[in-house]
Amino acid sequence: MKQVRPSRSTGALMVRSRPNYQPSSRPANPAPLLAELDALLALVTSEPALAGERAQDLQARAERLGAHQVVAGAVLCRAEACQRRGEIAAAVTLIRQACDGSTPLSGGNRVRASLLKAFVYNDLGDEPTALQHIMDAVLAFSDEVPRLLRVRVLNKAADLLNKLGALEDSLLWYSRAEELAVGDPPVHLMVINNRAYGALLDGRVDDAVAGAQQLSEFSARYGYPLNAAGLDTIARINLLAGDPQTAVEIAQRAVEAALPVDFLTADAGPYYLITLAAAQRSLGRPQEAQATLNQAQKACSAEGYARVKNEILKEQAEILAALGDYRGAYETLQAFNAADRELLSRTREAQARIRQTLFETKAAREEAARYREEARRDPLTGLRNRLYVQERLTELLTAGHPGRLSVALVDLDHFKSVNDDYSHEAGDRVLEAVAGLLEAALPGDDGGSFAARFGGEEFLLVLLTPNRDRAHQIVEQLRRTVQQHDWSYVIPGREITLSAGLATQAPGDTYETLLARADQHLYNAKSSGRNRVSP
Ligand code: GH3
Ligand code: MG
Ligand code: MG
Repeated sequence: MKQVRPSRSTGALMVRSRPNYQPSSRPANPAPLLAELDALLALVTSEPALAGERAQDLQARAERLGAHQVVAGAVLCRAEACQRRGEIAAAVTLIRQACDGSTPLSGGNRVRASLLKAFVYNDLGDEPTALQHIMDAVLAFSDEVPRLLRVRVLNKAADLLNKLGALEDSLLWYSRAEELAVGDPPVHLMVINNRAYGALLDGRVDDAVAGAQQLSEFSARYGYPLNAAGLDTIARINLLAGDPQTAVEIAQRAVEAALPVDFLTADAGPYYLITLAAAQRSLGRPQEAQATLNQAQKACSAEGYARVKNEILKEQAEILAALGDYRGAYETLQAFNAADRELLSRTREAQARIRQTLFETKAAREEAARYREEARRDPLTGLRNRLYVQERLTELLTAGHPGRLSVALVDLDHFKSVNDDYSHEAGDRVLEAVAGLLEAALPGDDGGSFAARFGGEEFLLVLLTPNRDRAHQIVEQLRRTVQQHDWSYVIPGREITLSAGLATQAPGDTYETLLARADQHLYNAKSSGRNRVSP
């Protein structure tokens, strides 16, 4: 039950005078908690460590209130905090935790989970799988999905398409992202930044330079300063365009902009330092570059990605060459190549492991469901079997449908002689055909009626009908249909008849008492001449 605590300003009196009309069936996801979650999901992109800690606290409070969607959102926020800090395995565990909860994820959380899976696969260098998850995220779009989240998804789709060499598609997705982002300074700048960075990675110098200009222009137009990521992009583009002087100035600003926001734990910090070192080296100041690179080394030693460390080695080789230490440069380059190969093989291993972790629960669940389903069907006829009847009929009896729930125990007459006079195979074909006629006899309203094979040549119809007379009509009609069926194709010269015992739920009936009554009636039908429904 949801608790309402009086706030200080309203006082207890007011709360007591107003009854609590919260419908109890709706999960409680109080607006303040949802707003808190939204704020954390925005914070996590710039300050993952802090957002991760707060998300853990929010998760605990939401759990106490039974606010399932807030709990799932907070777990996903923690997952993103881990992912951004390079703790991929921890991120995967949390994503799974969020997806495996008892409550299905809301639209926003579904999109968020898919986006995170895309991030993880991207980190592992598996862009095609990342793109699949992004497309899952796009398919889950709805009005309830926050705009920022949708922009991030479209942006990521464009980044991945760019990396995969689908430039035209990539540009199309960037413009979709931009359409949604226009008017929202940080979000719009993020889209422009990603597009420019994509051009930079591709070595499309003109596009990259145009992108850098656009970044500066829009930042000025919005009166909104560029963040570290934007500045770093512009610095790198200047380096690519052969202007190391400007590159150094801007890279310096990027490092400064990143300093206040947990520089040491976010993955991006060391990258900004590497950019600065490369710019300083290009400007002909290898000593300064070396000092900057040492800083980068320190910044990523705690949590750092193997990938950042490789980037550092690569830059180290360049700096040593600029310092005239060719032997050192050569050895460092060798070390880089070895590390790069190792990273690649570790990446592949991790890919396989994480693919399994993300999918094994789903696969296991599907397999268990399939097994469960198979264990409750009769292999010859495909009808439900006795195990299913036991479970389902017990449920139906507990739900209580006196007068509306009937069972008909159906037994084929003199069936032994079918086997004897024709063959066991012919008998099997008859049983299959009878099963089809039983299913066809069920009311077409999908009110829960079903047919089962109870064993041998004995079947059970479970009928949910408005009254007992209707159930009787159905069974009587089935009896006639079976008798009139054209059996000549399998047992020429022979007809099939059945006897049935019908019982309708009375108050106090259990599985055993109801079936015992049906069995008694079946016995009566048999002993009074067969080919009839009793009573
Ligand atoms: P009654 O009218 O008294 O029910 O006579 P009956 O011959 O149908 O009854 P009985 O219980 O004596 O024999 C049932 C027969 O059903 C025995 C067996 O040959 C046949 N039977 C049971 N299961 C199968 C099956 O899976 N396939 C085939 N072909 N025959 C089966
Ligand atoms: Mg029998
Ligand atoms: Mg029989």
